Amino acid sequence: MIIGSHVRFKEEQILGSLKEALSYGANAFMLYTGAPQNTLRTDINLNYLNDAKKIMAEHNISMDNVICHAPYIINLANKSKLDAWNFSISFLKKEIQRCETLGIKYIVLHPGSSVGMPSEVGIKNIIEALNFVITDDNKCMILLETMAGKGSECGRTLEEIKAIINGVESSNIGVCLDTCHLNDAGYDMTKFDEFLDNFDSLIGLEKIKCIHVNDSKNPINSHKDRHENIGFGTLGFLTILNIVNNEKLKNVPKILETPYVSREDGEKELVYPPYKFEIEMLKKGIFNENLIKDIRDFYR
Ligand SMILES: [Zn+2]
Repeated sequence: MIIGSHVRFKEEQILGSLKEALSYGANAFMLYTGAPQNTLRTDINLNYLNDAKKIMAEHNISMDNVICHAPYIINLANKSKLDAWNFSISFLKKEIQRCETLGIKYIVLHPGSSVGMPSEVGIKNIIEALNFVITDDNKCMILLETMAGKGSECGRTLEEIKAIINGVESSNIGVCLDTCHLNDAGYDMTKFDEFLDNFDSLIGLEKIKCIHVNDSKNPINSHKDRHENIGFGTLGFLTILNIVNNEKLKNVPKILETPYVSREDGEKELVYPPYKFEIEMLKKGIFNENLIKDIRDFYR
C-alpha cells in the first residue's frame, strides 16, 4: 500500500517532510512548499533536497509518491477581480517551478470558487487560466481535486471535473480524489466500485494520480468539507479500508489529511498528529477503537 499523510515543510524543507513521513511509517507524503494561506516562500535548499533523495532511495520511496498541494489562496474560478486572478495564475506557475526544482511530479489544486457567479462561469475561468499555466513540457502535473461543493466551489461533480479537463488543451492534467469531499458532494463511498466505473466512463481511471483519504464529520450530500479521523466519521473504517485496498488504484498514493488530536477530550487546540496510528490501522486492516487514546499516550 502506498500511503502517507500531509506533512510539514519547514525545518530542513523536504528533508524535514521526509523525516516526519518516516516517523509515521509512511512511504508517501504530501507537502505545501510554504504556508497554504500565504505566498511567502523560502528558496529551495538543494543540500536538503540531495540528502532527502538519498534517504528516499534507501527507503525505496519514489518521487512519484511525493505530492505537493497548491495554496488555498489560488482561485482560478473568479475573474471579477482581474488582478487577483492574474496573481493566482502567476503564483501557480511559480509553485510548479518550485515542484520541478524539488523533482515533485504532482501538484494538487482546488479548482476554485466562482463567488456569486454560476459554476459554468467559474469553470470557463478555470479553463482559461489553466491554459496559461499548463504546457506539455511541465514536469509537474496539476491534479484537480474533487470538492465538497461548499459555497460556490467548482469541481463538486465528476461532470465539472471532466469539463475542465476537456477544456484544457494539454492532456498534462490529472485528478486527486478526496473521500470526504466526495461523500459531502453526494457520492456514496460505500459503493466505491460503482463510483470508479462511473469515473472511468466519464474521465478515465488513468487520470487518478492521488487520493486524499479522509473520513467525514458530515452526512452524504451535506456540502460541508470537514475531515474526520479514519473510522470515526460517516464513511467508517470498512468503507475506507475498501477504498485504500482497491486493486485498480493499487499504485496511486493515498494521503491522509485527517485532523490532529487534542490533548484531552473537549479541548479546542489540536496538537498530536494521528497519522502514525491511522496508517498502522489501515495497513493492518483492523479498526482501533482506542485510536485517540493511543495517540495521546504516545505523544504525551
Ligand atoms: Zn485539498
